[in-house]
Amino acid sequence: MKLIGAHVSAAGGVDNAPNNAQKIGANAFALFTKNQRQWKAKPLEADAITRFKANCLRHGFAPDAILPHDSYLINLGHPETDALEKSREAFIDEMQRCQQLGLHLLNFHPGSHLKKIDEYGCLLRIAESINLAHQQVADVVAVIENTAGQGSNLGWHFDHLATIIEHVDDKARVGVCLDTAHTFAAGYDLRTASACEATFSDFSATVGFEYLHAMHLNDSKVALGSRVDRHQCLGDGEIGIEAFRYIMADKRFDGIPLILETIDPDRWPEEIAMLRHFAL
Ligand SMILES: [Zn+2]
Ligand SMILES: [Zn+2]
Repeated sequence: MKLIGAHVSAAGGVDNAPNNAQKIGANAFALFTKNQRQWKAKPLEADAITRFKANCLRHGFAPDAILPHDSYLINLGHPETDALEKSREAFIDEMQRCQQLGLHLLNFHPGSHLKKIDEYGCLLRIAESINLAHQQVADVVAVIENTAGQGSNLGWHFDHLATIIEHVDDKARVGVCLDTAHTFAAGYDLRTASACEATFSDFSATVGFEYLHAMHLNDSKVALGSRVDRHQCLGDGEIGIEAFRYIMADKRFDGIPLILETIDPDRWPEEIAMLRHFAL
């Protein structure tokens, strides 16, 4: 079965997210468990945790259909010791929040070298950051999102993802979230069924579908290989609708959260309905 949803608002409390997801016809969702643009957040309150779990149960969202996203400030490959330490602490806090909410996945952007260390050194730092988080928090899978490769962000090339995974000790607790807009902006074509076939074969050979724990479904405002992160509504961008038809018809994408981060939340119900239709 396809688990389709969107990155919904958790304004007013995490317990609102499952309700917001239910309203748009989703059977999966993503959320921030804290303000994504701040370092510090109040700990989750016991009441909010209870209400979150009750709302998920009521609307039929199992933990495997829920994909929390960490703060944008965190850089697990930061070249400087103090900043790296701050990011690692914040990441562990994010993992603990997931654990408190009974969730198993944490989606994050791998990190940036900021032109101060080489790519390989940065990828090793990211892997080490994941290992350290695993030592502190049991049961949560670190889900690396591929990036568009904007600036000095790593994780845009499938080889980067493979290198990080190679250096993570607990392979059962590391995975990948492929964002279609990022994949395309990074230079992997998705515009036709045969282009999708080639791109996902490359992913299968380089990383492996056993590591695919989620997808972000976005069209792209920018052209193939632009290395810029600009999302667009499905079918309105440079990727076009074929990629989404392909993904929905392919069993390799069953049972994992497929999350819209498209730019017009008013269109999410219609986009979800369209994706469900493609999956029939
Ligand atoms: Zn992301
Ligand atoms: Zn994304």
